[in-house]
Amino acid sequence: MQQSQPISIAGAGPAGLTAAITLARAGHRIIVHERRPDVGMRFCDDYQALENWTSEEDVLDTIRRLGIQPDFYCQPITRLSSYGPRSAAQVTFAEPHAYLIRRGAKPGSLDSALKRQALDLGIDIRFESVLTEAETDIVAVGPRQACAIAVGCVFDTDMNEQAAVLLDNRLAPKGYAYLLVAEGRGTLATVLYDQFSAGKACLERTIDRVQNLVGLTMRNVQHFGGYGTFDLTRPLVSGRRRYVGEAAGLQDNLFGFGIRQAMVSGHLAARSIIEGSQYDRLCRTSLGGQLRASLINRYWYEFMGQPGYDLLVRLSSRARNQRNFWSRIYTKPMLRLLLYPLARLAIRRPR
Ligand SMILES: Cc1cc2nc3c(=O)[nH]c(=O)nc-3n(C[C@H](O)[C@H](O)[C@H](O)COP(=O)(O)OP(=O)(O)OC[C@H]3O[C@@H](n4cnc5c(N)ncnc54)[C@H](O)[C@@H]3O)c2cc1C
Repeated sequence: MQQSQPISIAGAGPAGLTAAITLARAGHRIIVHERRPDVGMRFCDDYQALENWTSEEDVLDTIRRLGIQPDFYCQPITRLSSYGPRSAAQVTFAEPHAYLIRRGAKPGSLDSALKRQALDLGIDIRFESVLTEAETDIVAVGPRQACAIAVGCVFDTDMNEQAAVLLDNRLAPKGYAYLLVAEGRGTLATVLYDQFSAGKACLERTIDRVQNLVGLTMRNVQHFGGYGTFDLTRPLVSGRRRYVGEAAGLQDNLFGFGIRQAMVSGHLAARSIIEGSQYDRLCRTSLGGQLRASLINRYWYEFMGQPGYDLLVRLSSRARNQRNFWSRIYTKPMLRLLLYPLARLAIRRPR
């Protein structure tokens, strides 16, 4: 079905491109406006993780179900080292806990794969083109305000492949730090939910700690920074506009994972246009419970602090079924009902 007016999408990130691909498959004409000269330019070929613990379905099957081919660089993460302030654990997973992917404009990244799939469908992507919200049908413009910041670096290395997470307020106030190494490349970053001005000092402390823990070798170091928005109070629809991905604040509140939510919400926004259904209802049914649970998780995480991080490291390492342990954290209906209003009040977001 070809409509006369093309559908306009602002933002060629995972949310905007998934929406565009879904609409193109249904025969709609789309123009995607991207303010930068290419896709993924918010990132710098850093490793990120496509989480695989918040739903029963494997995230790659979810992506296929959305009509996207997972033909980007994608390696299962089946071993994870976790470090609290005074604890350490190595966990092996029977199924991938997450998938290691690359972000940025280079071939093999999630972003360049989505661009290629969109172009193959004949989607018109206009780079260096900025849309105002008033002109837009689907707003997929990424973060708006900093609820958390990331400070990190990418580098060449001869270290072994590994994934590690460090929970310690001295390295990442109310957040976490991570190390991802594969194929001679590494990403090391700290994610701060508080004391943003300490970002550089936290990265230096993280480098020292990782150096002591696993021995760090870094060549051709390139620094990066970024920020993320988590906000469950944002309206998802305003007039004809549908807000998707980070532009709608749809990210895991506990650790800031947002790629899966971006792609799912982009797909749902497209489906609501195709079917004439209510996007906000589709989105809340599909993602609402898990995102509310993630806000409660964040409340607990901040409330328990350093001793809680050690407890989390120890409990997770002792769990018999890792996937159940992590998925249960995101799906506890009674707890969610009781604590959600408190968590909403307690977790203040900068405006
Ligand atoms: C350092 C860092 C590490 C992360 N690690 C992970 C991770 O490991 N796992 C995970 O799941 N998530 C991670 N995230 C979050 C994840 O990257 C985001 O949730 C995801 O990219 C959101 O996708 P999006 O399409 O909503 O927005 P974006 O990916 O931000 O895409 C938005 C696009 O819109 C463009 N744009 C902005 N304004 C306009 C405008 N007015 N007109 C046109 N175009 C515009 C931007 O240039 C951008 O290309 C990380 C974030 C950061 C900063």
